[in-house]
Amino acid sequence: MAGYVWDFSEGDKDARDLLGGKGAGLAEMTRLGLPVPPGFTITTQACREYMADGDVPAELRVEVTMAMRRLEDAMQRHFGDPADPLLVSVRSGAKFSMPGMMETVLDVGLNDLTVHGLAAFTGDERFAWDSYRRLVQMFGRTVLGIPGEEFADALDKAKAARGVSSDVELGTDDLRDLVGAYKDIVREQTGREFPQSPREQLDLAITAVFNSWNTERARLYRRKERIPDDLGTAVNVCAMVFGNLGPTSGTGVAFTRDPATGRSGVYGDYLANAQGEDVVAGIRNTSGLTELERLDPEAYEDLRRAMRRLETHYRDLCDIEFTVERGKLWMLQTRVGKRTAPAAFRVAVQLVDENLITMDEALDRVTGAQLSQLLFPQFDAGAERDLLARGMAASPGAAVGMAVFDAETAQEWAAEGKEVVLVRRETNPDDLGGMIAAVGVLTARGGKTSHAAVVARGMGRTCVVGAEALDIDLPGRRLHVGPRTVHEGDVIAIDGTTGEIFVGSVPVRPSPVSRYLDDGLDVALAEAADEETAELVVAVDRILTHADAVRRLGVRANADTPEDAARARRLGAQGIGLCRTEHMFLGDRRVLVERVVLATDDDERQAALDALLPVQREDFVGILRAMDGLPTTIRLLDPPLHEFLPDLTELSVRVALAESRGEVDPHDLHLLAAVRRMHEANPMLGLRGVRLGLVVPGLFALQIRAVCEAAAQLLTDGLAPRPEIMVPLVGSVQELRLVRDEALRIMADVSQETGQPLDLPVGCMIELPRAALTADRLATQAQFFSFGTNDLTQTTWGFSRDDVEGAFFPQYNANGVLAVSPFETVDTRGVGRLVQIAVEEGRAVRPDLHLGVCGEHGGDPESIRFFHAVGLDYVSCSPFRVPVARLEAGRSAV
Ligand code: PEP
Ligand code: MG
Repeated sequence: MAGYVWDFSEGDKDARDLLGGKGAGLAEMTRLGLPVPPGFTITTQACREYMADGDVPAELRVEVTMAMRRLEDAMQRHFGDPADPLLVSVRSGAKFSMPGMMETVLDVGLNDLTVHGLAAFTGDERFAWDSYRRLVQMFGRTVLGIPGEEFADALDKAKAARGVSSDVELGTDDLRDLVGAYKDIVREQTGREFPQSPREQLDLAITAVFNSWNTERARLYRRKERIPDDLGTAVNVCAMVFGNLGPTSGTGVAFTRDPATGRSGVYGDYLANAQGEDVVAGIRNTSGLTELERLDPEAYEDLRRAMRRLETHYRDLCDIEFTVERGKLWMLQTRVGKRTAPAAFRVAVQLVDENLITMDEALDRVTGAQLSQLLFPQFDAGAERDLLARGMAASPGAAVGMAVFDAETAQEWAAEGKEVVLVRRETNPDDLGGMIAAVGVLTARGGKTSHAAVVARGMGRTCVVGAEALDIDLPGRRLHVGPRTVHEGDVIAIDGTTGEIFVGSVPVRPSPVSRYLDDGLDVALAEAADEETAELVVAVDRILTHADAVRRLGVRANADTPEDAARARRLGAQGIGLCRTEHMFLGDRRVLVERVVLATDDDERQAALDALLPVQREDFVGILRAMDGLPTTIRLLDPPLHEFLPDLTELSVRVALAESRGEVDPHDLHLLAAVRRMHEANPMLGLRGVRLGLVVPGLFALQIRAVCEAAAQLLTDGLAPRPEIMVPLVGSVQELRLVRDEALRIMADVSQETGQPLDLPVGCMIELPRAALTADRLATQAQFFSFGTNDLTQTTWGFSRDDVEGAFFPQYNANGVLAVSPFETVDTRGVGRLVQIAVEEGRAVRPDLHLGVCGEHGGDPESIRFFHAVGLDYVSCSPFRVPVARLEAGRSAV
């Protein structure tokens, strides 16, 4: 097998790493006996070495020479032959498609002599000179780096001189003169002549393609698409065929199925008498493939045959580029075609029904990201819209409502039956009521793991965050974006999938897939607007059912209300992996918690705890009832302390004002002293989680008792509650032991009081590096671990999860330090390594240790693969991501 250079006949479709997508496709088509012009591929390895050494590998020149000789033999023409020249195209082709990002040079081999040979061979002198001037132009721009306007200006001058407005009206002499003018430009701009040696042209074109891997736009594209920078591109050198040799020639693109609907058939565009670039650039309007059928039924039939062959061979939708040269079909490219999310599901199931692929393969052909696109209502793409600004897409969906600027107004207006979008600079836990009342949430600050984003995702509420352009004037009840103003009550629309914010209403289309997940296949089918929608719903059902059958990972939900729990269950959750109890202590109950925390004597504290017990018990009864028979992990309280206490500044001002009036409330003074005492510079690293539970007597005991009593009550009712008690932010086994001992005591007490057997599992979250690194010790006290990867990411990287995304991630993203936020997709090298250590060392001590993850990563497709691979038992995510997690857990297993 060759080294840096592979003949098209030597590779195959599986060699994409070395040959790039295009090279592998050309090789595969060659192997299949399809009509591919002869050629060869220079491997990505050559490009990588070029990038490392700044020069092409020495052997490459020799290998290119030999490959060109083979090409000449195959074509019976010679490179540089003045009478009958071989011309080649030089195209980039990376492993992952990067459309339009890198360079191509066509007609390499033309010079002052061979242009006459081309004219003789084609019998078309104008064509030959036009090809030559295109070469000088393309070569000048991409290889020699001359600004494109130089050539464009010269072309304009030529047209003006002739008094015509389009290129095609220029005659042979004009084009010959233009070649002269272009060559002058090359000389002026580079200080040297346009290279007449075909081999020099070829070598320079090859290095130009290598260089184009690292242009600004190519790097930017890779960052966006998460393509690694070190792959390099292959270079395809291929004998030229011409689609612009008159009416019996042409060029086109084709799909073996409709990429929008998945329907089988022939889809594509054809342009007679044109080169590929004309189709791609959209210079001329194309006609459907029926045009080719009409013009040249034979070539059309050849194309259909090739398409059928490719689809049965690749067993997938393929897209194809082809050229017809004087009635002869040439295949120039093929690859598995991109498609919309609905088409991906339909095509996968169609291929199963056509016995081309298995259900396992069908599962692998769709992604969680595609499924989530299908779950949310979307704005009607064809509708008119008035873009106001853009933010970060934090929670998908399409929301239209009146802008309101505080949570209270949101609740009031919603109670009057109005649809509102809550707009805040940023949100805090006090905004929760408003977020629930609103159809969407929009913030000017904060990133994808800010409070607003996490809470909104949890609720499935459409949310856009970090729209920095919004200048919110709360007292004025309005916001400004540059010269534009939106007043409270004005209608706005936010798109949680794209991050766009519109002024005015935009029509919304409901999601049939979401209907199916909520109400079942029959309801969704009965309501399906058309056959395609019905087909889509059935396809999703079949693939998800298969995912459930093959997956090893369990899927639970993060839910903390009975409604969310019920919804999660409908969506297929097999339990609750995280029931956060913080919100149960907000609103009216906050005063009670304040009293517990600030109590100066035991009686006062006990009174507040006693008042909290029945309400907390009812919270758990509701959730455990909704999750009857399924495991429900209840996490003990974990807020930073300051969330429960009055704001220090506000309280200080209030006391100072009261003092100046001589009417200070002694309670306020007491409160101020306590708040001062407990004030923390860094609450996220302060008195929270298990620390709060150990420092404030009775707090965790109250919660544990409430869980036990709720379970006992439901057992008495004949239900099967399965609560698990989870201790947050543990860093030391001593912390866990103290809480666990107390839990066991309370379990025994409640068991005795109620006569119900209670043996609730007790476990802890792994949210601190120290917890992961001492997992063997923790496992002696924990029956389960749940990885809190939000905090684990925060504490491993030392990034504040609330501030970091707006603050410097964009910069980190731009300079390539972070391709993706580690709060979105788990950082497998660092955070993942800690997870791995905890899994291995925890299980070594306790082989039946049950392991899950409940950070936001539990719903992220890429992270789910990792959690499958390290052997977790389940992932837990917001209810709305449950179907996506089911699908991805299935995909991880096939
Ligand atoms: C976590 O830290 O990953 C977690 C699930 O807890 P929270 O997001 O509530 O801090
Ligand atoms: Mg946490």
